[in-house]
Amino acid sequence: MLASSAPMQPESHPQQLVEWFRVHKRDLPWRANREPYRIWISETMLQQTTTTAVIPFFERFLSRFPTLESLATAREPEVLGQWAGLGYYSRARNLHKAAKALHSLTEFPRSYKNLLELPGFGPYTARAVASIAFGEPVGVVDGNVIRIFSRFLGENWDWWKPSVRDRIQEHADAWATRLPSHELNQALMELGRTVCTPKSPSCPLCPLRTDCVALKKNLTAKIPRPRPRPAKEIWICELQVQIEGGRLRLMKNHSLPFLKNQWLLPAAGKKVQVPPARFHYRHSITKYDIFVTLSPKNSILKNHEYRWVSLREIQQHVPTSFVHKAIDLARRTDGVPQPRSLRQQKENRVRHPRSRVDPRRRKRQPER
Ligand code: SF4
Repeated sequence: MLASSAPMQPESHPQQLVEWFRVHKRDLPWRANREPYRIWISETMLQQTTTTAVIPFFERFLSRFPTLESLATAREPEVLGQWAGLGYYSRARNLHKAAKALHSLTEFPRSYKNLLELPGFGPYTARAVASIAFGEPVGVVDGNVIRIFSRFLGENWDWWKPSVRDRIQEHADAWATRLPSHELNQALMELGRTVCTPKSPSCPLCPLRTDCVALKKNLTAKIPRPRPRPAKEIWICELQVQIEGGRLRLMKNHSLPFLKNQWLLPAAGKKVQVPPARFHYRHSITKYDIFVTLSPKNSILKNHEYRWVSLREIQQHVPTSFVHKAIDLARRTDGVPQPRSLRQQKENRVRHPRSRVDPRRRKRQPER
C-alpha cells in the first residue's frame, strides 16, 4: 500500500550521513580512486553479491583486465572464466559488450542518461557510475536504499511496485543534490550494508537514529515488508556427460528457458507439476527449480549445435555450476550412477557428511 506522502527531510540528515561515512567507511579496493572503469566493474559485481565475496573476484578481475582496453579486446570465454563463481553470467557478457562499445568512444560517458544506452547499464549502475566517478547529482536506489528510506520514513511500502520505487528515487535524488553525490550515495550503500541491515539493524550506531520513524515506533523488524514471491516452476532435465579423449561434448541451449543460448551439456527438459521421485541433483536458477538426471551416453537429442571442448578449458566455456555438478558426479562415480530419491540423498548426507557439496560452491550466487 502506498502511504501518504512524507515531508522532505531537513538538510541535516544527509549531512549527518556523509559525516558518518567519512569516519566509518571501509577501505575497499574499488575506493582507491574514482576511475569510472573500476567503479563500473565493482558496482556490477556487487549486484546480488556481498562486499566480502566480491573483493577477491574484483582484485583477480582487475589484475587480468586492468584497463577498459584489456577487457574490450579479450575473448568472451576468458571474461566468463574470470567471472566464474560470481553467478549471474549475463552480467559478465553485458560487461564485455559494454567494454567493446565504450572502447569505440572517445571518452567514458559522464551522465547517467548516456550510460543507460550501454548494454548492462540499468538505472542503478548508470546512476552509481555517474555519481561516484563524475559527481553527477543523482541518487541510487537498490535494496539497501529502499530499506533505509522505508525505515527512516516509517513507510511500509509495496516497494517492488514501480510507482513506489519512483517515490524512493525522488527521495534519493533530493538527498544527492544537497551534498557531494559520490559520498552521499556511497554513504547510503555503506549504511545499508553495515548498520541498517535486513535483520537486527544496529540502530545505536546509526547517524539517522534520532529521527528514524521505524526506530521510534519499534517497527524496524516489520519494515520493509517482504516481497511476495511467485511459486517456482518445477523442471526435470536430463543431461548427458560424454567424455572422449579428455574432451567433453557440449550443446548450445536453444530449448531450455534457463541459461538460454549458453553452452551446456547435451540436455532435454520439460516443465512438470510435481518433483520426480528420483533424480541425481537439484539446482535452482532464478524462478526454476530443476531436478537433474544424468542420462546414458548417446541417448538424447539429435540435430542440435554441438562442440567438443577440452576438460582443462571447461571453466572458460561453461562457468555454470549447473553443468559442473553433473561432470563432477559422472567422474566421481565413473559413469552414470543410479538416481536416488530425495530421502536417500538426505540420508546419505547424514551418514557421509564429507560427501556434501564443496561448501565454497554452496555459497555461490544463483545464476541467470
Ligand atoms: S535508526 Fe535503525 S532502522 Fe533507522 S535508519 Fe538507522 S539503522 Fe535503519
